[in-house]
Amino acid sequence: MAARGMSMHDDKMRDECGVFGIYSPGSNVAQLTYYGLYALQHRGQESAGIAVANGREIKGEKGVGLVSEVFADTSKLEQLQGHIAVGHVRYSGVDSTSPVNAQPLIVRYYGGSHAIVHNGNLVNGRKLRLQLEREGSIFQTATDSEIIAHLIARSGESDLVAALKKALPRLKGAFTFIIMTPDKLIAIRDVHGFRPLSLGETAAGFVLASESCAFDTVGAQFVRDVKPGEMVVIDKNGPQSIQYAETDKQAMCVFEYIYFARPDSNLLGQNVHMVRKRLGRRLAEEHPVEADIVTGVPDSSLSAASGVAEQLGLPYEMGFIKNRYIGRTFIEPSPELRALGVQLKLNPVRQIVAGKRVVMVDDSIVRGTTSKRIVEMLRQAGAREVNVLITSPPVISPCYYGVHTAKAQELIGAHLEIKEIAREIGADYLGFLSEEGMLECLNLPKEDFCTACFNGSYPVLGEEDEESV
Ligand code: SF4
Repeated sequence: MAARGMSMHDDKMRDECGVFGIYSPGSNVAQLTYYGLYALQHRGQESAGIAVANGREIKGEKGVGLVSEVFADTSKLEQLQGHIAVGHVRYSGVDSTSPVNAQPLIVRYYGGSHAIVHNGNLVNGRKLRLQLEREGSIFQTATDSEIIAHLIARSGESDLVAALKKALPRLKGAFTFIIMTPDKLIAIRDVHGFRPLSLGETAAGFVLASESCAFDTVGAQFVRDVKPGEMVVIDKNGPQSIQYAETDKQAMCVFEYIYFARPDSNLLGQNVHMVRKRLGRRLAEEHPVEADIVTGVPDSSLSAASGVAEQLGLPYEMGFIKNRYIGRTFIEPSPELRALGVQLKLNPVRQIVAGKRVVMVDDSIVRGTTSKRIVEMLRQAGAREVNVLITSPPVISPCYYGVHTAKAQELIGAHLEIKEIAREIGADYLGFLSEEGMLECLNLPKEDFCTACFNGSYPVLGEEDEESV
């Protein structure tokens, strides 16, 4: 029987989605979108979907599982013929894993057909949903994509761009949308630019993706990031930029650099691996631990661990091996099996860590349960000392912008002092990167980032959240 309980997966900050779009006459856009989603799979593993437009109509396929699982039957892709496509990978909170919430959402109304994909979370989503329901709208999903679909339909405008100009100012919070009509692709980023979205170009057309690593996969060149408050409309005339709202404060999620994005992606013009290395070096400057080796928790902490090792002048070792072949149906070992030493996802390498003073680098501590298990594993493998260095400050507040965190009362950083956390996870030493140090490593104005989960200073509040935050 599958044991649920707490898994490592539950104890991580989780991005909720990756989006992809392509306008490319003469190309196999469904296949290219499949490859694009494959590159974005780290942003969501619960469901995947692709919709294609051919100038007259829109068709789509979606389902629960990894991209390779949903499209294991390749005839599904072959049926999606056209010159424009959108795709989506989704991570959902435990409450909304229903297949009905998989995207793209395809809707039909008097203005035509649209397929919508999105990443982020509206902080006034519940309020808007309630208002729309009172006015007669019926919702079939729990997604913010359906809210924008209803607002477009109720705008009274049959031209989609005009409808969006009316609808978008009603949305508050984090949203990146790609909307496809039978003959257009429209990219939208919220005024704070919480979630990333980049524009790329191929010989035959244009590509949009949450991260630039997807461009490499489909042979596209990076052109630029979509700006906060910008709408980019791509059709047979190429891309047209419309600034639908002025931005008073950019606030890209700093966790994109720390954890979410793939190291080979570039965000705001900076390579993610290089930023993580700088975070690691700064972390080691702030915590010059005496040790024998440095190791990182795969995969997200490896870049930072190499920076820590460089700064401390210590060997960087593969202290853990991660099993990369764990799919959605993975059965988490029960507490009894874990006690017997069953470690399927992450295994320490005894020959590397035994008898050593180890520096173990990780990206964040949410509840502390994962760190505790990793420290235990290292000790069981014979490590003489386990010093834990974290490339971000303690997480003290939940995210309202589409990142699945623990609830405020479950965040270990919100309740315990650092020395108490060290005791709780069993570390000989625990050091977090300071907020100032983290922001300096980004080499960009610190005002351009959201850091609310570290300091509770939220760039935008939802009407329903204003009192509770
Ligand atoms: S609160 Fe934290 S996780 Fe959420 S957008 Fe801000 S920095 Fe990112």
